[in-house]
Amino acid sequence: MIAEHLATVRNAGHLPRIKYAVIVFASCFCNPAAGSMLPKFLVGISAFVAYFDGLTIQSTLVYMPELPEVETVKAGLVPVMEGRVIDRADVNRPDLRWPFPDRMVERLAGTRVQSLHRRSKYILVDLDSKETLLIHLGMSGRILISGHTIGDFHHDHPTPAKHDHVVFHMEGGVRITFNDARRFGAMDLMETAKQDDHWLIRDIGPEPLGNAFNESYLIDRLAGRNSPIKNALLDQGIVAGLGNIYVCEVLFRAGIHPQRKAGEISKKRVATLVPIIRDVLAEAIVAGGSSLRDYRQADGELGYFQHVFQTYGREDQFCLTNGCQKKIQRIVQSGRSTYYCPQCQR
Ligand SMILES: [Zn+2]
Repeated sequence: MIAEHLATVRNAGHLPRIKYAVIVFASCFCNPAAGSMLPKFLVGISAFVAYFDGLTIQSTLVYMPELPEVETVKAGLVPVMEGRVIDRADVNRPDLRWPFPDRMVERLAGTRVQSLHRRSKYILVDLDSKETLLIHLGMSGRILISGHTIGDFHHDHPTPAKHDHVVFHMEGGVRITFNDARRFGAMDLMETAKQDDHWLIRDIGPEPLGNAFNESYLIDRLAGRNSPIKNALLDQGIVAGLGNIYVCEVLFRAGIHPQRKAGEISKKRVATLVPIIRDVLAEAIVAGGSSLRDYRQADGELGYFQHVFQTYGREDQFCLTNGCQKKIQRIVQSGRSTYYCPQCQR
């Protein structure tokens, strides 16, 4: 049904037909573990949400970029940004979610990008001016790369589009366009040396793929907590970058009921969450990377990635566990949909 909506909207011409650009969409949803036997009913792109205002699907399935999607976008930016000078930046409005930093255009012009990295859902671009550019995709942010040749494919610059809020003109003619229809995204500039103290970053917990996130850490942080495990894992102060979709998948894989109180889960079971979280995220990152390559090698249109989740978005469909006859249920926790199997998750 979602795919049908997509097809309708695309055919109606509401979406730009993009032959010219590699688009690194804010979201890619790929799950290699799910396998091709599963119905490919779920197509998700947060960028498309903007085009669905007024459609009912928005209330039940809203895709926001999570850690793997941001990592994929970052990976798409590295080859066109690292080591290159930002010749010019066009900033077409005063703000996104928050105002742009003072003199952003002047502070970016002529700086050379030294490296890109990711912290939680933020892309951090270290510049040779000793400042760091923070990019947050928000809900609908997407990044288009044009003027770039990958293999045999050259992607010409697109016609400027509505919601193209920031354009980076890179040395060598590459253009990086940040388009954000809903403007929940953000950009900021900070001293590189003080980036860990930035107000958006300083309270974020350890990276789930880093060493600081381990079994004893998680056991310690969940001890005594009365909140449901779903909410605890969404708490960015406990672990960075986990969002609604991947937490649902993690809890399904762990067999833990999303409403179970975090502090009442045995240490042994909590410990199992760590490798599961790492696996779920790592698989999605790998899939995102291969999707990038696939789209680059096709016609340059990086529209959306098909992703099949085991629970997310599968309300009333049969659980995918072998031998389980139950259907996936949806409940709302703290205003967010949770999908789970009442049989497999206890
Ligand atoms: Zn089940």
